[in-house]
Amino acid sequence: MNISVIGAGQMGNGIAHVLAQNGHAVTLIDIAQASLDKALVTIAKNLDRQVAKGTLTEDGKASTLKNITTCADLASGVRNADLVIEAATENVDLKLKIFKDIDANAPTGCILATNTSSISITRIAAATKRPGSVIGMHFMNPVPVMKLVEVIRGYDTTDAVTQAVVELSTTIGKIPVTVNDYAGFVANRILMPMINEAIETLFQGVAGVAEIDTVMKLGMAHPMGPLQLADFIGLDTCLAILRVLYDGFGDPKYAPCPLLVQMVMAGKLGVKSGEGFYTYTPDGKGSVVAPTFRIPMNVPR
Ligand code: NAD
Repeated sequence: MNISVIGAGQMGNGIAHVLAQNGHAVTLIDIAQASLDKALVTIAKNLDRQVAKGTLTEDGKASTLKNITTCADLASGVRNADLVIEAATENVDLKLKIFKDIDANAPTGCILATNTSSISITRIAAATKRPGSVIGMHFMNPVPVMKLVEVIRGYDTTDAVTQAVVELSTTIGKIPVTVNDYAGFVANRILMPMINEAIETLFQGVAGVAEIDTVMKLGMAHPMGPLQLADFIGLDTCLAILRVLYDGFGDPKYAPCPLLVQMVMAGKLGVKSGEGFYTYTPDGKGSVVAPTFRIPMNVPR
């Protein structure tokens, strides 16, 4: 298939990697050239890791890279697509604009999927003239490793489109689970309140970063504590998802912790900015330096 992936950030590069490794021709699109360049470096590094582990050959690496082209222009980047997967920043106005542009430029019959973590598929679909072809295809981070794809049906999504996305997910080695379109779907409706509560627990001084994460790792057998997971997801993305939940349900239990709001305003976004609840060395993921987190005195309680 010809598949265009819009947004070359941490999710977009992972989605492109997995699709290309499974033989699809991928056009990776981003408005920021720096994101495209970084994505190709990250994909090559992650492929090297697979080669070192013996799960991929050098030829497999080369053909995966050959299957990916990059493009800074959305209109030309989606012109030959059978499927577009949007993985740009979690912002509703941005996604509505992107879907209007995809709709105007992608061929008839092309499926339009979004990797949104929380924004209504029905709302995104309504920005297009083909709501039946719009669907949620919610990959998990890191995409090459995580098995789940949450497939979200909007109000108008057709059975044929759902079936096609379920089949594609399976053929690229993922396990699709189909759900309906409510704020946060299933994954983030459950995950984000836990992350928010962990931040609130820190904010109230009940325990420090290491203690909170250790309790959840050892006590609940989670592979990673909620604060470290928030750093990996991106604190800006966590905040955006909580706001969608808060707006969507009108329930104060989803109100983002003020500490999260302040950290995002301060540009502390987690792994992608080098600092969140932990600090990270510039070579990126996995290299967590000892927790240095202190709640600044000037964050209002
Ligand atoms: P990110 O910040 O790493 O990357 C976003 C990318 O989108 C950036 O490279 C940015 O330049 C690009 N972008 C912004 N506007 C654009 C435009 N108009 N056209 C093309 N590209 C544009 O974010 P991310 O973590 O990769 O998240 C992307 C999407 O995936 C969001 O909807 C997010 O909610 C969702 N998601 C994130 C995670 C996670 O763990 N981070 C997991 C599942 C889903």
